[in-house]
Amino acid sequence: MIPFGDLKRTYARHQTELDAAVGAVMASGWFILGRRLAEFETAFAAYCEVEHAVGVNTGTDAIALALRAVGVGPGDEVVTSPLSAAFTALAVDQIGAVPVFADIDPRRFTLDPAAIEAAITPRTRAILPVHLYGQPADLDPILAVARAHGLAVVEDAAQAHGARYRGRRVGGLADAAAFSFYPSKNLGAFGDAGAVTTPDAAVAERVRRLRNGGQSARYRHDELGVNSRLDEIQAAVLGVRLHGLDADNARRRAIAAAYTSALGGTGGGAIITPFVAPDVEPVFHLYVVRAADRDAVAAALAARGVETAVHYPTAIHRQPAYAGRGIGPLPHAERAAAEVLSLPIYPELTDDEVRAVCAALAAVGAPADDRR
Ligand SMILES: *Cc1c(COP(=O)(O)O)cnc(C)c1O
Repeated sequence: MIPFGDLKRTYARHQTELDAAVGAVMASGWFILGRRLAEFETAFAAYCEVEHAVGVNTGTDAIALALRAVGVGPGDEVVTSPLSAAFTALAVDQIGAVPVFADIDPRRFTLDPAAIEAAITPRTRAILPVHLYGQPADLDPILAVARAHGLAVVEDAAQAHGARYRGRRVGGLADAAAFSFYPSKNLGAFGDAGAVTTPDAAVAERVRRLRNGGQSARYRHDELGVNSRLDEIQAAVLGVRLHGLDADNARRRAIAAAYTSALGGTGGGAIITPFVAPDVEPVFHLYVVRAADRDAVAAALAARGVETAVHYPTAIHRQPAYAGRGIGPLPHAERAAAEVLSLPIYPELTDDEVRAVCAALAAVGAPADDRR
């Protein structure tokens, strides 16, 4: 079986460097808010082509703290996507604000600017687009809606480290952005970690204070902060992995191109390749196809040794935790949740494995009458 993911390969690939970096932290005796975090924040901000990066404990906290820092508070509404990790919306609830789901563009799978406009009320304070699967949301029209209504925009960039929209890296396109370094993300720690990036010095300062209990100076708590610090061991791991991120993303794009070309001759077949907008450079956190009979396609691929996954089987507003709110219907998101299927895509896949996935795709994706 070709595994959907295998983080043991990531460690094996960088073992010498990682062991040295983590060992140095342990020997230093300094584990929280130290030199490695400061170095990583500087390097990650430069990578994202943005002025500031602030490390926090998780991607979820990065969303919550970024929203607070741009002025979202209890009772405020935040317009976001129903097709994402549920943590996107949970971060909004975490700060006492209310996620309002607008439907997705059925091709890009990211927030539809027209649907955002229709979801705005007098309580709306911010828009939270998600760069889903590593493909940037259509930011310019979203920023135009935000400007017209005086709203903040926070990017959920948890799946899109290094992606470009109209030539510019995500993370610096709006008021603030949230990244996750969950182990399987394009840039992954060996535990939980996240970061907020922003072009705005005041937003960065506010997140810095909030992540450390709201302290402006030692033992002086000016506001109700939280404990959400990216620790030195994770910062050291991330510092090592950041060096290889562009090469890793290029490898992901090459694998995606191979899958798309394997499916290229399957017009009228069972599998639809992902749409890539002409104005983005995606980083393929996931390679997600659509299939009307998703479960049958997954079973046929499994029978040929290819493990798959589903991101996400339930639109967020259909989750039990949100069921009582009477949200929806949101037909494009609900249809996507029923049809999406994720194929294995990570830099450590071997060329032989990529070829095997391509062969399985060509066979399973072919029109029924010439399927072998
Ligand atoms: C992973 C992810 C999150 C949550 O990040 P954590 O680090 O797991 O808290 C939020 N949004 C999206 C789109 C994600 O993929």
